[in-house]
Amino acid sequence: MNQIETAPELTEIVETGGQTTGAQWLSRYSSSLLGVFGTPQRVLVRGAGCLVWDADGKEYLDLLGGIAVNALGHAHPFVTSVISSQLATLGHVSNFFTSPTQIALAEKLLDISKAPAGSKVFFANSGTEAVEAAFKLARRNVGSAATPRTKIIALEGAFHGRTMGALALTAKEAYRAPFAPLPAGVVHIPFGDVDALRAAVDESTAAVFLEPIQGEAGVRPLPAGYLKAAREATSAAGALLILDEVQTGIGRTGKWLASGDAGIVPDAVTLAKGLGGGFPIGALITFGPETSSLLSAGQHGTTFGGNPVATAAALATLHVLENQQVLTHVREVGEHLRSGLAAIDGVTEVRGEGLLIGFDLDADVAAAVVTAGLDAGFIVNSPGPHTIRLAPPLILTTDQADRFLAALPALLQTAKDAQ
Ligand SMILES: *Cc1c(COP(=O)(O)O)cnc(C)c1O
Repeated sequence: MNQIETAPELTEIVETGGQTTGAQWLSRYSSSLLGVFGTPQRVLVRGAGCLVWDADGKEYLDLLGGIAVNALGHAHPFVTSVISSQLATLGHVSNFFTSPTQIALAEKLLDISKAPAGSKVFFANSGTEAVEAAFKLARRNVGSAATPRTKIIALEGAFHGRTMGALALTAKEAYRAPFAPLPAGVVHIPFGDVDALRAAVDESTAAVFLEPIQGEAGVRPLPAGYLKAAREATSAAGALLILDEVQTGIGRTGKWLASGDAGIVPDAVTLAKGLGGGFPIGALITFGPETSSLLSAGQHGTTFGGNPVATAAALATLHVLENQQVLTHVREVGEHLRSGLAAIDGVTEVRGEGLLIGFDLDADVAAAVVTAGLDAGFIVNSPGPHTIRLAPPLILTTDQADRFLAALPALLQTAKDAQ
C-alpha cells in the first residue's frame, strides 16, 4: 500500500478513452464544474515559457500569465525541480510545526520589502486569504472605548478578493450585492482623490486598503503623491495603511513592490499571485513591532498556509527573479510594449508599469479582441468593455512582445468587423 508498483500515466486516469478534444472536455466541464466562471475559453494541456498549448494542439503566446501568476512562465525548470524535490522530501507538516523553507521565505520577503526591524510574515494560500488576514489585522486596531475604530476605507474600483471580508473591501456592486450582509464598516471613497481621503480618515478609522495600481479596474495607477498623502493621513489618525500588492508585487512592475519607490513605509502588504511562480501561496507582511503584535497566538490560522512545497516554490521563484536580473528586463520589455502599443491606431491610452499593462481602445470591442486574439494564438484579457490587460510572464522576450504588437492592428480590425 505504501508504494504504487505499476503507476499509470496521469493521462490514463483523466482521459476516458482515446484522446479527448477541447469540445469534449468542455462538455464534461459543464456537467461537473460549478458555473461561477462561465464557459472557459480553452482547455489548456501544456506550457513552456511564455507559450501554452490547448487540447486540440493549438499554440498560444500567453500575455496574461494566469492573471499575473506565472511570473517565470510555464514549467520553469528550476521552479519545477525545486517543487518536485521538496515534495519528495517533505510536503506538508501543519502549523504545529515549521520547516526551513517557510522561515527562509519569510526572511527573504522581509528583506526585499525593506521591512524595518520587528516586521513579520503570515503565509496563506491565495490573494483573498492574504487580504482576509489583513482585514483581521485591521479589526485588531481597535481604538479606545470612547473612540472605537470601526471604519475601514477602500477605494472605488477596488478589487481585494472574493471571500466575505475581502469582498467587503471590493467595490463592484455586482460582486457584493448577492452576498449581503458583508462585514460592516467598510466605506469606499472616490479613486485617487487625496481630499476625499483626508476627509474620510479620522480617529474612528482602523485601516485604509489601497492597491498601488488597480489591476481588475483596468490597470489604473494611483496618482503620484497619493500613497504619501495616505501615509500622512493614516499616521496622523492612528489608522493602518495596508497595501494590496497581490497583483502588483514580486517584480510585476519591475520593482519588488509597486509601492517600493513611493518613499513610504506601509503598515502591511499583501502578496500572492506571482509569489509562487505559479504555485498557490499568499502572504501578509506586517511592518514594525507594533503592527506585528496586533494578531496574537490563536487569533488567526490556516492548515495549508506556509507549507514546505509552496514556500520552496516561492524561494525558487525569488531566486531566479533576483539572480537573472529579471526586474531590469521587466522594466525594459514593459517600456517597449507600452511605446509600441501607444503607436497603434485605435489605442487611445496606455497605462501601467513594468509588465502590468492596460490599454484603452477607441470602441467597446475588448471582448471581441480577446476572442480574435485566441483565434490568432494570443491570450489577453479584457477587464472592461474598451480595455485590454496584459500581465505576461516576466520573462517575455522583446521578440514575443513584437509578435503581439505586429498582430494587434489586425485583431482590432477583426473585432470591429465582428460588431
Ligand atoms: C487577484 C487579487 C486578489 C485575490 O486573489 P485570489 O488569489 O484570487 O484570491 C486580491 N487583491 C488583488 C489586488 C488581486 O489582484
